[in-house]
Amino acid sequence: MNKTVLITGASRGIGKAIAFRFAREGFRTVLCARGEGELFRTRDQLLALGASCLAVTADVGKAEDCRRLFEEAQKAFGTVDILINNAGISHIGLLQDMTDTEWDSLLHTNLSSVFYCCRQAIPSMVAAQQGRILNISSVWGAVGASCEAAYSATKGGINALTKALAKELAPSNIQVNALACGAIDTAMNSFLSEEEEAALIDEIPAGRLGRPEEAAETAFRILSSPAYLTGQIITLDGGWQ
Ligand code: NDP
Repeated sequence: MNKTVLITGASRGIGKAIAFRFAREGFRTVLCARGEGELFRTRDQLLALGASCLAVTADVGKAEDCRRLFEEAQKAFGTVDILINNAGISHIGLLQDMTDTEWDSLLHTNLSSVFYCCRQAIPSMVAAQQGRILNISSVWGAVGASCEAAYSATKGGINALTKALAKELAPSNIQVNALACGAIDTAMNSFLSEEEEAALIDEIPAGRLGRPEEAAETAFRILSSPAYLTGQIITLDGGWQ
């Protein structure tokens, strides 16, 4: 396999599982996260499997970091064939209590990052007349969640951006979709108490949280589909919403 996939927020959770799924198929992987520890551990695990892997510390909420991320990816592996915008943070609380800093951080990390990374990736995809972009969204992007209004807004923004960009890029044979996850068992949900997790599971028809590997498998299958499958928000939530 001579293709490169760049995954943001790939040091743990869903992004890490996606990196392993693609590495198993022989893709070159470019991973990024803000922190070094987990990121370099993940890179070393992939290298130990014989995968080609580059890890770059970058804050995707910053345009300059995204520019450097793609520059380093290009230097190491050439063109990025697949971009997976996965990095994200959550914020739980009443909207009225949110500070400007919290709002800006959420908006930049979850939504501006998608713009910054797509802007870097698209020109070479258009030149090649092929490419794939998958944005990791949330079920809350369509239906909204109480005490997660700002988070829901960023994911709703991702959904709209996905649909619009798919129309813009379909003439260039570039696929753009979003994977809207329900509750997946990662560090993002580690704040839940045992009782809260049990109550959440009660609401999910599948009777459990999703596994990061299931999100990775779904991402892999979407990205292996014909480019004609584009502009879709595909939900993975155990029948929850
Ligand atoms: P985790 O918290 O487990 O992982 C998040 C990853 O993103 C980490 O690698 C983290 O590394 C990285 N990251 C966070 N902020 C930035 C940043 N500014 N720049 C670069 N990397 C960053 O979360 P999940 O794996 O659960 O979430 C992945 C995606 O899936 C997110 O977009 C999330 O919104 C979405 N999602 C998750 C759901 C769930 O239930 N888990 C449900 C629906 C959607 P570091 O902190 O070192 O930067």
